[in-house]
Amino acid sequence: MLDAVIIGGGAAALSAALYLSRGGKKVEVFERNQIGGDLGQIPELENYPGYQGSGEGLAKVMREQAEQAGAKISYGECHRVEDCAELRKEDPERTDLPERGFYVSIDDEVVYAKSVLVACGAESRRLDVELNVPVSYCALCDGELAKDKKVAVVGGANSAVQEALYLAPMVKELTVITHSRLKAGPVLQERLRQHDNVKVLENLEATAELLNKFEHVFVFIGKEPKAGFLQELQRRHVVKKDAKFFGLEIIKEVELIDEDGYIITGAKGKSEHETAQTGLYAAGDIRQGAVCQVITAAGDGAAAAIEMLEFLNGAESVS
Ligand SMILES: Cc1cc2nc3c(=O)[nH]c(=O)nc-3n(C[C@H](O)[C@H](O)[C@H](O)COP(=O)(O)OP(=O)(O)OC[C@H]3O[C@@H](n4cnc5c(N)ncnc54)[C@H](O)[C@@H]3O)c2cc1C
Repeated sequence: MLDAVIIGGGAAALSAALYLSRGGKKVEVFERNQIGGDLGQIPELENYPGYQGSGEGLAKVMREQAEQAGAKISYGECHRVEDCAELRKEDPERTDLPERGFYVSIDDEVVYAKSVLVACGAESRRLDVELNVPVSYCALCDGELAKDKKVAVVGGANSAVQEALYLAPMVKELTVITHSRLKAGPVLQERLRQHDNVKVLENLEATAELLNKFEHVFVFIGKEPKAGFLQELQRRHVVKKDAKFFGLEIIKEVELIDEDGYIITGAKGKSEHETAQTGLYAAGDIRQGAVCQVITAAGDGAAAAIEMLEFLNGAESVS
């Protein structure tokens, strides 16, 4: 049995793998696509203190460091994570399963681990139109490219307005385009109105014809977290929660995943990166409330790993 399985091979995962391995734990990272995750899409990383170069270059160093510390880094896609004790309860014949820990299905094999870190990231929802102008999905990352330009921001929720507020002082003109009305909170809307160079177009489709009139387009129409492999575990938690209504279950459980697909951590009685399922942690862009930068993902991975070390060391001293 592994001490920790890490799902995903981005900045959060590689940093957690380094910390866990240095803490003497047996760790394996499973990445379904490209080691480094989103880092592979950053040609020039300009806001990671102490590093200058491509995201790919940073991913390579992070991987080497984690491997030198003893982490195993493998390719494989996670399809399901289960609590072994729950599976045995459901089917007492399954004596092949360990009494405790996690069952993690990776492609067509199964690995067992005392703890799991979900660090599988979240992808920005893409705009389905072909444009002749540059398109970005992160103002903090690409704001510099839009300096003194005529810019459009597509989206009308809090995240879109927050990104627009970051861009407004540096661009020439900024137009927020939303297909419904502006849904951001009143405080954010008021802050937006205070910028003389900002215009809001509501109830308007972001067509190619319209967007090609700008010099740079920023799109913030939501993210797509990728933790579908937690569905079964999530279902069990929700069942427990419902059962509580009928007085059948005293244990207070909360959901693992929010309605947008992000992983909820830090519920009452849990550490900051731990989910409602003991031993299951999350870090990086997949975690509810994530800032979605490389530096924060790496820091999040390290912090989660430190909590996992405490959990693993505590579990060892009990058994
Ligand atoms: C185009 C672009 C430019 C950016 N520019 C910057 C920038 O300049 N500065 C900055 O700070 N940030 C930037 N960011 C944001 C930053 O890259 C991310 O916030 C950060 O890298 C996220 O790290 P993560 O480890 O949480 O997730 P990710 O990097 O998304 O890694 C998650 C990994 O998990 C894997 N995975 C998903 N599901 C599974 C599964 N079921 N099984 C196995 N593996 C799985 C994915 O393949 C992926 O490799 C940019 C992002 C993008 C997309």
